[in-house]
Amino acid sequence: MSGRLAVVGLGPGDERYLTPEAAVALADAQALYGYGPYLDRVPARAGQSRHPSDNREEAARAAEALGQTAQGVSVAVVSGGDPGVFAMAAAICEQIATGPDTWRTLDVVFIPGVTAMLAVAARIGAPLAHDFCAVSLSDNLKPWPLIERRLDAAAQAGFAIALYNPVSRARPWQFASAVERLRRHLPPTAPVIFGRAVGRPDERVTVTTLESAANEAADMATLVIVGTRETRVIERPGRLPLVYTPRWIPRALAEAIA
Ligand code: SAH
Repeated sequence: MSGRLAVVGLGPGDERYLTPEAAVALADAQALYGYGPYLDRVPARAGQSRHPSDNREEAARAAEALGQTAQGVSVAVVSGGDPGVFAMAAAICEQIATGPDTWRTLDVVFIPGVTAMLAVAARIGAPLAHDFCAVSLSDNLKPWPLIERRLDAAAQAGFAIALYNPVSRARPWQFASAVERLRRHLPPTAPVIFGRAVGRPDERVTVTTLESAANEAADMATLVIVGTRETRVIERPGRLPLVYTPRWIPRALAEAIA
């Protein structure tokens, strides 16, 4: 008998963001795998085994989960946010690509979740309403010069940019360096949104400008959205401002980019 592997997105934090499909997959699993803090978000159930691991152990975790599935176990591998965004879905695919042929016959499903950039954007209006892209600032899996090249290209082409993994203990300088890079292409007044721990009790969302962004505290639980030349801020008394990128782009700007 072969089991089933569900790669499940938990959303950004609060269980309100867990989709009904994800909740069913978690309830049906006999074994749960994931980064420890993400697994901690899944309520304990009798008869379910839990296998937390460190966040640098994604390949080993994926291989173990596939091995268990091949033995007939119903497995859920969890990711924060969406599993396809800088998370476990690709690690599972990589293992299937290189692992035993029998892994290709397994029942594997990917269950989407609300990714951090959408949760942060929704808190503040519509900063990602026009064309946008997402870049991870982690240089663990790619060289820093490539990240700089991608930031240059994104800013020059007029994309709003969601920055995942802005800072970690092992990567203290990358965020300030990315901001410096973006300032070469964007006006100092371009709006920048910091969304920290969105959907969790310690959530904090702030809006600043590209000029001041490097001074703002970002950490591993922060997602940063850098607006475009067109992104606007509507100040509101007693409330967070609204930040939005209009759905259209002025002809002169479009021609300048082209
Ligand atoms: N798969 C996840 C992303 C994993 S990369 C997703 O789809 O959201 C980890 C990065 O995601 C963090 O460094 C941070 O930039 C962002 N992130 C994850 N959860 C977050 C949250 N609740 N609030 C803000 N940013 C978050």
